[in-house]
Amino acid sequence: MVTGKNNILLTFDDGPHPIWTPKILDLLKEYNTKAIFFVLGKRVLSNAHLIRRMIDEGHFIGNHSMNHWLLLFNTNKIFHAEIVSVHKMMLEQFGYTIRYFRPPWGIIHKKLKIRCETELDYEILLWNTDSLDYIWPFGRRLPVKKYNNENIILMHDGHAFSPVANKKHTLLMLENHLKSLHS
Ligand SMILES: [Zn+2]
Repeated sequence: MVTGKNNILLTFDDGPHPIWTPKILDLLKEYNTKAIFFVLGKRVLSNAHLIRRMIDEGHFIGNHSMNHWLLLFNTNKIFHAEIVSVHKMMLEQFGYTIRYFRPPWGIIHKKLKIRCETELDYEILLWNTDSLDYIWPFGRRLPVKKYNNENIILMHDGHAFSPVANKKHTLLMLENHLKSLHS
């Protein structure tokens, strides 16, 4: 697994976003930290330069589905349209093989989960620490807990349904967090 410094794994969902993702990438670069970006398929091609940048700068890219629907049903149509399509897009357009899947809201039909694991060789990666960065305003620091294992921190570089997103708060929390690790 791609655990970062101090057993902390930073994960960003619902992007890429043309304004916020580059700023997050800049900060991660400044502090030499890697993350996983769980991208939405519907945002991939219009932000292809950001996908390339993530790959070039050593980050991991995860599949967060095509449209961020609730994956409550196990049908072939849903499996292919929402999950396999994103996998193929990343492979065909960027030569990148996705290894991780994070279902929207962390919810997925049990059999669909098994199909992801067996047919796509995915690891389902949820989180154990919610930054609550979608609530404005909230804390100024990431709520890192003392787990024996790693902290998998949920943050967002976009909004699931709106192309407009204000992620200033995410940036502030991320910067405070990265500074504190390096001070
Ligand atoms: Zn999401």
